[in-house]
Amino acid sequence: MNKIEHIGIAVKDLSVAIPLFGKLLNTPCYKTEQVESEKVTTAFFKKADTKIELLESTDPEGVIAKFISRRGEGLHHIAFDVEDIYAEMKRLQDEGFVLLNEIPKKGADNKLVCFLHPRETNGVLIELCMEQQ
Ligand code: ZN
Repeated sequence: MNKIEHIGIAVKDLSVAIPLFGKLLNTPCYKTEQVESEKVTTAFFKKADTKIELLESTDPEGVIAKFISRRGEGLHHIAFDVEDIYAEMKRLQDEGFVLLNEIPKKGADNKLVCFLHPRETNGVLIELCMEQQ
């Protein structure tokens, strides 16, 4: 488990949130990307080493749409950079954490990702992400 790779924020409307975060961070969005597997469009901002990922649902039944209908917009997940996602998934499983996906999946930004069930992490959704070679 290395540094925080990014922080994910669920938003209703990227066309509103992108200019807002651009003003907040005083830097433009450098990339948007649709992630089929998660039914989201993502928008990335970078400040020094810190990335912010805004997530808008592309599907009313998608995880982000459901999250917003339950809890409203806001902090959705914290993503940690890992060197070996398979080893880290095994380690965390052995420690009693529950993986939401048993096999790493393709996330935004050319990463392999795995999420941990927030029930075991004080309600915070944790993402592991590994740069793909
Ligand atoms: Zn993420």
